[in-house]
Parts: sequence; structure tokens; C-alpha cells
Amino acid sequence: MSNAPALGISVLGLGQMGAPIARNLVARGFSVKVWNRDAAKTATVPGATPCPTIAEAAESADVVLTMLADDAALRQVTLGAGGVLDALPKGAVHLGMSTVSLAIVRELAAAHAARGQEYIASPVFGRPDLAAAAKLFVVPGGAPATLERLAPVFAAIGQATFPMATPEQAALAKLAGNFMIAGTLEILSEALAFGEKGGIDPEQLMGLLSGTVFGSPIVNRYGGLIARADFEPAAFPLRLGLKDVNLVLAASQQLGLSMPVASVVQQHLLTAVDQGRGDIDFAGVATVVREEAGLGAPRR
Ligand code: NAP
Repeated sequence: MSNAPALGISVLGLGQMGAPIARNLVARGFSVKVWNRDAAKTATVPGATPCPTIAEAAESADVVLTMLADDAALRQVTLGAGGVLDALPKGAVHLGMSTVSLAIVRELAAAHAARGQEYIASPVFGRPDLAAAAKLFVVPGGAPATLERLAPVFAAIGQATFPMATPEQAALAKLAGNFMIAGTLEILSEALAFGEKGGIDPEQLMGLLSGTVFGSPIVNRYGGLIARADFEPAAFPLRLGLKDVNLVLAASQQLGLSMPVASVVQQHLLTAVDQGRGDIDFAGVATVVREEAGLGAPRR
């Protein structure tokens, strides 16, 4: 691409989200290096330079973008031996896109600042298909001048950017959104089970609800998955949904408020995981609600 952006970006974590994000950065002309724990996945980003170690990916980068499963993975990759913290040059940015706790965001922001580096938390809304279409909603938090410098990165992967004042607030905003998704899943599951107990076909009821007063991308998409009992393959596995609800409840404790809806969904998600359903889609929390309602296996 002729007007290739000058920033060199290393993407660490090539899962369902990281791989399409890295491919879009390549497509927009960034100089991209990639690293993944399972090195075979580096082949999913043609045009990027695969790196055998985190240090090799980080040591010459302007920006290290991490898209990893959870706090433990982010901690390991950043603070572990041979991790990002030790290798990243002074003045470079760690752009953390995973959905993680407020506590680790605070810790990484302080650790990077102490090395003359910068941590920008930048969680995203949107599933892997939106990531592939470069239509994520990006929520970066940190110094305005740095966010401005990173604007071409956000534009390469997303359709809109919603800047927040601090990394911690970006993480909090993402958790607030995921809490709303989890609560909506619970409500949809209960409403459709309620209708089905009275003999209404879930797809018919979903058509009515989403076609009238409850039309929204989340209701339409997740309601459709629940109505069709379409939980595999998972675009966002239930175990990661449980991780996020756990993060919401941990943050709510720190902030001193109770979030009873989150507690209800947490119980249902824990039941699903206990029953071996952690790898089905997040919307599969409906399976537990159905069972509690005494409904049999969904017709499919
Ligand atoms: P994923 O497909 O499960 O990928 C997880 C990535 O983390 C893989 O690259 C995996 O490496 C890596 N990883 C896990 N544990 C690790 C460790 N201990 N050390 C190093 N690497 C490790 O997950 P995803 O869907 O891409 O999600 C990534 C993040 O984005 C999560 O925080 C998720 O909550 C968030 N998110 C997901 C969605 C979605 O719809 N999927 C939407 C928005 C945000 P291996 O390949 O070696 O296992």
C-alpha cells in the first residue's frame, strides 16, 4: 500500500480475535510481526513476519498489541521471563486488547510507566466476524496524544473508536458492556423458555420481539442463537463469558456496589461449565435456563 503507516506493530495472540486483527493491519500496510504460543498459528497471518519468541517480536516494535485469553495469559506474556516488559523499547506502547481485570490493567500501566513505556488498554466490542470485517468498536484508554498517534491502528481494525480517560476506565467500560450482554442472554433465555412453556415456538417469539420493541444487534444475534439452539461452533466460548462475569463481580466488589443480575448469570454459567459445556457459545447459558424450566432438549 502506498501510504503505509510508519508504525511497526507486533501482534501477540492469534486466536479468534487476534488473527483477523493482525490480518487487517497487514492489509492496511503496517509492518506487522506476529507471535503466538502455538507457533503454527503464525501461518494464519500471511504477510506478517513470524517471531519465535516474545522478545524478538517486542524488541523493535513501536506498538505491541496483545489479544490474549485472560489475566493469566496477559501476565505471563507481559511480566513472565522473556516477556514484553523486558523487551519493549523505551517510548513504545503496549496496546492491550484482551478483556481483563481492572487490577491487571492498573498493574501493567504502572510497570510499563516505570520502564518509560506506555500501557494503553484497548478492549473491543464485536465477535470474530466483525474483527474480520474490520468493524470492531474500539475502546482505548490512556493519554490523548498517544490515542491520537494510534488512530490509524484503530481505523484499520474497527468502525468506531470510543476514547476513555485512563486504561482502567477503558477496562471498566468493556466490563460494563459485557455485563449488559450477559444480562441480556439471561433475559432472552428466560423469556424464550417462558414462551416455550406456553407452547410458543422460540423462533416465532424472537421474530416478534426483535422485529418490534427489542430490535438491537445483541438481541437479534443472541436471540437467534438461543431460539435455534445454535451454540456450536462458539464465536465466543461460554468459559470466556464466565471469565468476564467473574471480572464484573470482582470489579463491583472493589467499587462497592452490588450487581445481583451478574450473580444470577454467574451461577448459570458455572452450572454450564460444571456440566462440560464451557466450549459452547456464550449464548448456551440458555441450556441451563431451559433445564431449570423443565424443558427437554431443544428441537433442532
Ligand atoms: P481465543 O481464540 O481463545 O485465543 C486466545 C489466545 O490467547 C490464543 O492466542 C492463545 O494461544 C492465547 N493464550 C492463552 N493462554 C495463554 C498463555 N498462558 N500464554 C500465552 N498465550 C496464551 O480467544 P479470543 O476469542 O481471540 O479472545 C481473546 C480476548 O478477546 C479475550 O480476552 C476475550 O474475552 C476477548 N474478546 C473476545 C471476543 C470474541 O467474540 N471472541 C470479542 C471481544 C473480546 P494458543 O493459540 O497457543 O492457545
